[in-house]
Amino acid sequence: METVFSKIIEGTIPARKVFENERILAFYDIEPAAPVHVLIIPKKPIPSMNDVTAEDLPLIGEMHAVAQQIARELGIADTGYRLINNCGPDSGQAVPHLHYHLLGGGKLGALVGNSASHA
Ligand code: AMP
Repeated sequence: METVFSKIIEGTIPARKVFENERILAFYDIEPAAPVHVLIIPKKPIPSMNDVTAEDLPLIGEMHAVAQQIARELGIADTGYRLINNCGPDSGQAVPHLHYHLLGGGKLGALVGNSASHA
């Protein structure tokens, strides 16, 4: 399925890249929700966390290692950060291509924006 992220991988849509190898790409979010807001995506078109299979687990592990490296390089490793994956409608996942949000650079708000978790 073609998505905005597959177009960024192909290079038909520009992005401010912060990391790239054969398997993984990371770039700044176009609508930052924190002073540092980077998206980390696999080049393999996995639609969501629900679609991750056992063969993808090394890739998922590498995405975490990349997040750790970027956090260090962007100076937020010690001040702290959040690594978030949205999966499916209730999470608000907008782009059906697996991604982690790496957020930091300032105090982050509540983990969720409402009290629905107690409903
Ligand atoms: P999610 O809601 O978890 O699917 O997150 C999708 C994210 O992609 C949002 O934070 C958007 O701001 C971001 N986004 C959408 N289009 C672009 C783009 N062309 N370049 C960078 N980030 C984008």
